[in-house]
Amino acid sequence: MSIQENYHNIKKQLPAHVQLVAVSKTHPIPAIQEVYNLGQKVFGENKVQELMEKQPYLPQDIQWHLIGHLQTNKVKYIAGFIDTIQSVDSAKLLSEINKEALKHNRTINVLLQVKIAEEDSKFGLSIQEAKDIFDLYINGIYPNVVIKGLMGMATFTTYENQIKKEFLILKNTFNELNTLKKLETLSMGMSDDFPIAIECGANSIRVGSAIFGRRDYSK
Ligand SMILES: *Cc1c(COP(=O)(O)O)cnc(C)c1O
Repeated sequence: MSIQENYHNIKKQLPAHVQLVAVSKTHPIPAIQEVYNLGQKVFGENKVQELMEKQPYLPQDIQWHLIGHLQTNKVKYIAGFIDTIQSVDSAKLLSEINKEALKHNRTINVLLQVKIAEEDSKFGLSIQEAKDIFDLYINGIYPNVVIKGLMGMATFTTYENQIKKEFLILKNTFNELNTLKKLETLSMGMSDDFPIAIECGANSIRVGSAIFGRRDYSK
């Protein structure tokens, strides 16, 4: 199927309240432009270097989301234009984002990335760490960031019940924090598991290969 068919196929499966983040990592600028031309404005990349290489050559009204692990020393490269950093996995990183946002006289949207997967290869905060950071945030420690919500990735498995269990843990945490201060975004679900994620309460999904095709890492 073509990118256009893929895109429309995904879009028609999404309820109106679910935001699609088109994950364009490893895919070239023309492919991103093609999806943009279909009406997509929100794109996700997981590497700072790659994002910096693409961003100048694409429409400036794209809302870029960083979805991959971010080193504190690289925040400065994206702080001027990034819409949302979905992968905040430490208080130190959040402080740095706050500092760089201030330098640019703006606020940066973030999601706290919570580790819900059983496999331990994935970055992310424990639920308690996320709660502690949210507490600092509510107390005004990070005036130049807006914590919009939470992001999580389920275990890479075909066991639906496992995936569901993990997504529901994140949904519960979201609900809990939401009672302390209103949150907007629960980002969970990728190409293979987004229908389950939506069922479990996701209102933002990150889809790459189901739109752009398989990633070729050999290049
Ligand atoms: C690559 C990536 C995605 C998209 O994965 P697909 O399976 O291609 O849809 C989503 N979220 C994160 C954090 C990613 O790194």
